[in-house]
Amino acid sequence: MTDVIHDEVEIEDFEFDEETETYYYPCPCGDKFEISLEELQSGEDIATCPSCSLLVKVIYDPDDFLLDEAKEVGTNESVKQTA
Ligand SMILES: [Zn+2]
Repeated sequence: MTDVIHDEVEIEDFEFDEETETYYYPCPCGDKFEISLEELQSGEDIATCPSCSLLVKVIYDPDDFLLDEAKEVGTNESVKQTA
């Protein structure tokens, strides 16, 4: 595994595809980083590019995505809000 965080991108800068329920963001390699709504709901915040090994960290408010059940289970959440 090569965990190379290329950048940190706010979720608002991602493009949401309603058909696949996935957020996309342009990758410098020409492809797109992608992270699914399901991954966001489960607390995942790393978007991956299918064509290269770059990663971006997604900046978002977990409360906007977390399911109610996930909130009860989640004990190791790391909320770092600087706003
Ligand atoms: Zn790429």
